[in-house]
Formats: sequence, structure tokens, C-alpha cells
Amino acid sequence: MIGPPVLSIISRWMRSLGGKFILLALGVMSITMGIIGVLNYQAQSNYGLQLLKTKGESLGHFMAAVSAAPILAYDYVTLSDYVRDVSQEKDVVYIVITSPEGTHLASFINKKSNFSRKVSGKFRANALSGAIADIEKSPRVLNTKMDIVFNKKVIGRVLVGMDRKQAEVAAKLALIRQLINNFILLSILAASIYFVFQFSTLRPLQKLMQGARRIAHGNLDENVVIESNDEMGKLAHIFNLMMHSLKLSINDKDVALVEIKELNHTLENRVIERTRTLETLNQELRHLALHDPLTGLPNRVLIQDRLEHSVLDAKRRNDTFAVFMIDLDRFKEVNDTLGHNVGDQLLLQVSQRLLDVLRDIDTVGRLGGDEFAIIVNDVNVDASVIVASKISQAFDLPFTLEHLNLNTSASIGIAIFPEHGESPQDLLKSADVAMYYAKQHKEEFCIYHQSKDIHSEQRLSLSSELREAINTEQLKLYYQPKIDLQRQRMIGVEALVRWQHPEKGIINPDDFIPLAEQTGLIKPLTYWVLERALADLQRWRSNGIELSVAVNLSTQNLQDSQLLNHLESLIKQYKTPSNQLVLEVTETALMQNMDTSIETLRKLKDLGVFLSIDDFGVGYSSFSYLQRLPIDDIKIDKSFVIDMENDIDGAVIVESIISLAHHLGLQVVAEGVENSTAMQQLLRWGCDMAQGYHICRPLPEHELMQFIHQLGTQLNFPIMMASTVAGQAG
Ligand code: C2E
Ligand code: CA
Ligand code: CA
Repeated sequence: MIGPPVLSIISRWMRSLGGKFILLALGVMSITMGIIGVLNYQAQSNYGLQLLKTKGESLGHFMAAVSAAPILAYDYVTLSDYVRDVSQEKDVVYIVITSPEGTHLASFINKKSNFSRKVSGKFRANALSGAIADIEKSPRVLNTKMDIVFNKKVIGRVLVGMDRKQAEVAAKLALIRQLINNFILLSILAASIYFVFQFSTLRPLQKLMQGARRIAHGNLDENVVIESNDEMGKLAHIFNLMMHSLKLSINDKDVALVEIKELNHTLENRVIERTRTLETLNQELRHLALHDPLTGLPNRVLIQDRLEHSVLDAKRRNDTFAVFMIDLDRFKEVNDTLGHNVGDQLLLQVSQRLLDVLRDIDTVGRLGGDEFAIIVNDVNVDASVIVASKISQAFDLPFTLEHLNLNTSASIGIAIFPEHGESPQDLLKSADVAMYYAKQHKEEFCIYHQSKDIHSEQRLSLSSELREAINTEQLKLYYQPKIDLQRQRMIGVEALVRWQHPEKGIINPDDFIPLAEQTGLIKPLTYWVLERALADLQRWRSNGIELSVAVNLSTQNLQDSQLLNHLESLIKQYKTPSNQLVLEVTETALMQNMDTSIETLRKLKDLGVFLSIDDFGVGYSSFSYLQRLPIDDIKIDKSFVIDMENDIDGAVIVESIISLAHHLGLQVVAEGVENSTAMQQLLRWGCDMAQGYHICRPLPEHELMQFIHQLGTQLNFPIMMASTVAGQAG
């Protein structure tokens, strides 16, 4: 038995090119030689038969010749002898001599032939004639008939039966011999063809295959060597060329990959650097937002935040703490007579002395101007008095400012949690009332007491006056132009409210908006402003003046559930194109109740109005949360813009805000543009819009119309001419 490995080798070989070729050649040759063999066999067997026939006829002639005499002499014994002798000849099956009528005169069957078995011994004569009649019919026997003639008269017949078998056997033997010869010849031929094929085709093919395998394994250095000029040689040459160009292109790709990697690396580094710069800027902005730029002390926002912490902490521990409000006496005088610089130095030295007399864990902050606030945890009324006298002592020695010795004192107001207020706002207010009282009564310090809170009474009466003012048209809207810096034309106005008080004259919004916010009057006030602004806008449009109008919203407006409906009906009533209405919201307002505020902003945005973040830079100034708001632009707070020329830090902040906002796809408005240098600088930094006294002060409506008239129908505002126009307008 042939084992499976051998079988698999054979089947693999048969599937190979060489195997297929050899099998094909063998097939063709075998068929050819087979056909030749069959033809040869036929010729051979025909020839054998012909010989047999001739032999039968010769024997017949011979028997006819020798039989005439015994027949005439009726000597059947001699006749039988002749027949017997001749019938012993090779290939003879039988010989019969008959009378002309067919009667058997003598007959014999060759005992060596296979047919002799057909005759049984007992009735030999009869049996013979019957058997011969059978034998005559056998296809194996070649029968010959010959007349026995004497004197031209037929006297009997000779029948000779020859056995075809010998001739056939001979032909078969010849065929087998030939087949064997053919096989040997075929094998030799196949072997020689295989060797020729192996050398001319298979071996080069294998070399090419090995070459391809090397390429697959990344080896591109070894050429395929086939030393011949035929197609195989050419194929190898082309193969080597192909390998060479592949190697070159792989090298190119590697170089490109390395370059891409390096580029990627540089890019990543840049991104990291950018992110870092952004982070530092954000941190700086946050610090700036929470600290006073002059003294570096916590500002009002941070103080409020610290107060909130202290409230929570004291509530939890059932403890008390004190808030001190400090106001310098005669600071305004110093500022006015000795100048801002000296004023600033004084503030710096005061803040340093305050820090020196207090513990590290206490918070000293500057609320603005000459107002400082201090939070001291874990103190009650008695302890707060000791702290207050320490603070007071800090002012005992004179301050040295530009070689001048200056004596100044401070008024200190004290509020204790929870007695004088349970919220940061209430505590600050109480401390403020106490400080005001101390100042009025020229006392060093004063602890809050309800009886001292006349302030709140004043406020009460002012708020009822304000309520009346809203209903009796004492409010006026002023409009301050806003220009598109890049296109150099006026594009809109900001509506700024004024209170025309019957006795006190014009009151600025900073003096009554906080009151309106605290007393809930901000809602009717804002509705009044919105309606007046949209009505004016409609009138301007009908006169062919296309402008946008910006209205300021307060914290409470963002919490007002009716604002949206109200605004929607106003927009309908005055047919306002909603994209001509801008709503300004401060960051601090948004922070108050962030989720509701953002929700309101979204709904306002859905109305199609423009949203702007006001006073940007003084609140939390987080660009990351800006990204979440549906806003269109930010207004850089005027405090950074006003003194950009002299204040390098402010300038840096303005430039960074512009670039960061643009990164977020937001437009930037700079307000507080007070001179041409600032405006040109803003233009260079790519700032989109500007507003400020240099362009125009807030004007009552009829004056605004005059200003617009000067600009012409296109509202052009060429920036080089800025000072002239502003001069005329301001
Ligand atoms: P704001 O929204 O930041 O408005 C800009 C303020 O800056 C205005 O003061 C304007 O007169 C002033 N301003 C404009 N250009 C310059 C400049 O070049 N230099 C300087 N130093 N100041 C400039 P105004 O009109 O006194 O308003 C003060 C604030 O009152 C406003 O600040 C706004 O927060 C609030 N306000 C005004 N009208 C309304 C109102 O209708 N509703 C609400 N909720 N708030 C209002
Ligand atoms: Ca504003
Ligand atoms: Ca502002």
C-alpha cells in the first residue's frame, strides 16, 4: 500500500506545472502509440489469417490430388490413412473426404486440436460427421472446400478446417511485444522531455518564485539570476527592474512617513503649547476676574464667594464671624490734589498694612475705589472690636508718598454673622451701613445696629419714587452708537436708560439700576426699555435708517418666565426684524442661576435675536463655558479698553480676548474707546466693533438723529476722521 505522504507528494507533483506538462505529453504519446499498436495488431492478425487460408488451400489441393486414385479404387482404408496423416498437421482441425453427394468417405479430427473432445468413442463414424458439421459452424474455424476431379469429372470433395487460434495468438503476442517496446520508448521520451523542461522552464520559474518569496519577506536586495536570452531571461530582468523600483518607492514612502511623523510631532507640540498658553491665559483671566488689578487683593466677586463659604462653614459649626467694611477718609481729596498715581500708591500701602496687621487666614479684599472688606472667621462682637482697633492702629503712622508724609484715617463698619445678616449680601449691606454711620459720626469704627440703618429708609423712598418714574415717563432712553471697525460704518446703538428726576435732575443708571434689581422693579423697567427701543427702531426704519439696537438685561430678567412671551409680542407689534435686536447680558448675571439662564438664552436665540456677553473680563471670564452658550458676540469691559495706551496688561488682555473669541467663532465689541490710538489698535487686532466716547457719547434720540445725519445715508464712519466726528458729536 502507498502511504498518504507518498500520495500527497504525487498529487502535489501532478498539480505542479512540470507534472501537468509531463502528464499531457504522456497522454498525447500514449494515444498515438495506442493507435499505432491497434493498427499493427489488425495488420498482423490479417496476415496470419491469410497464411492460414493459403495453408488450408494447399492441403486441400494436396488431398484432392492424392485422393482421386483411392476413391476410384474404393480403397477407403488408404484414403483414411492419407486423411489421418495430413490431419495431424499443425493448425488443422479436421479433414473430410466426401462423395459428390456429400457422404463421408474418410474423416479425421486433429487430436491435438481442442475440438477432438467433441467426438465420443463409441459411435465414432456417426459421431464424427455430426461433430464436424458443428465444428464447421464455429467462428474459430476457417473452412476450405475443394473438388476432387478425375477426367474433368467431380468424383469427390475435400473439406479442410483450419484453426484460427494460432494466428490470433501470434498477433496478440506481437501486440504485447510492441506495447512493451512502446512503453519503454515512452518512458525514455518522457524523462528526456521532463529534463529539458526542467532546465529551460521549471528551474527559472522556481528562481522567480524564490525571488517573489524574498520580496514578500521584505528582502529587496537579491536579484534573480537566470542566464539565458529567452523569455525566462527577459522575465527575470523585468522582475529585477520591478523589484528595484519597488525598493525606491518604499524608500520614498519611508522618508515621507518619517516626515509625516515629524510634522505630526511638531503639530502636537504646537497644540500642547497653544493649550498651555490658553490655560495660562484663562488662569490669568480668572485671576484678574477675581482680583483687584492694582493691589492684587480679592475683588468683590471673590469676597462674595469667600463670604458664602464662611456663611456655610459658620452655619455648620454654629459659629460666628465678622465682616469689616473700611473706607479711607479724604481719599478723594488725595486723588484730586496729588493725582491718581499718588492715590494708587496710597491704596497699595494701605492694603499692605491691612495684610500686616491681620492673620494669613483672614481675607482682605478691595471692593473698589477706596473701599476694602475684611472677613475674620471665628470672632464674636467682643473679639471684632479688638480686630477693629488693630485695623485702626494700622493708620496711626503716616504714609510716605513721593517724599510726602501723609496722614490718613479710615472708617470701619462691622457686621457679625448671623446677628446682622445671614447672607453675604445682607452682611455686606450691614457692614456698609455701620461704616457709613462711623464716617458720619467721625468714629473709628461702628458695629451695625438696626437703628443706624437710615440708609435703607432712603432706599425705600427712592424705590417708591422709581416705581412712579417708570409709570410717569420720567425715564429716558439715550442711545450710544456702535460702529463696525472693519467696514468703518455705524451699525447700531446701545439703549442706555436715564432717570429724569423732578428734583435731583438726571440720575445715571449705576445709581438706580442696582436698586431696581433689589426691589423687583427691574422687570417693568426692562419692559419699558424694550418697548421704547423697538418703537424707536420702527420709526428709524420707516425713515430708511437700518440699525440694530442693543438692550441690557439683568439677572432677574433671565429668571423671568414672562420675558419671552412679552418680547415676542413686542417684536410682532413693532414688526421688528429679530436680528436687529441685540440683548446684552453680563457673565455675572448668567452665573446666578446658570441652568435657567442658559435655558432662557436658548429660547431668546430661537426668537432670532442677537446675544451679547457684556462687561466681559471682569466676571468669571471662562472661555470654556462661553462655548456652551448660544451667543453671537462678547463686549470687552471698558476698564480694559479705556487706558490701553498706558496699561500694558490691559492691552494684552484685550488682544488675547479678541483672538480667543475669534477662535470660538464669536465677534468682539470693544467698549470704552476713548481715543483714536485705541481705536486704531483695535482695528489692527481685528476687533469687529467699537463703542465709546471717542466715537460718540450716549445721546437722546433727537441728537442721535443729528449724528446719523452727519454720517450720511451710508452711515460711513472713516476711522482716520474719527476724532473730528466724535468731537462734533461728543
Ligand atoms: P454698560 O452696559 O456697560 O454700558 C456702557 C456704559 O459705559 C454706559 O454707562 C456708557 O455711557 C459708558 N461708556 C460708553 N462709552 C464709554 C467710554 O468711552 N468711556 C467710559 N468711561 N464710559 C463709557 P451708563 O449709561 O452710565 O450705564 C451704566 C450701566 O448701567 C450700563 O453699563 C448697564 O450695565 C446699566 N444700564 C444702563 N441702561 C440699562 C438698562 O436699560 N437696563 C439695565 N438692566 N441696565 C442698564
Ligand atoms: Ca451694556
Ligand atoms: Ca459693558
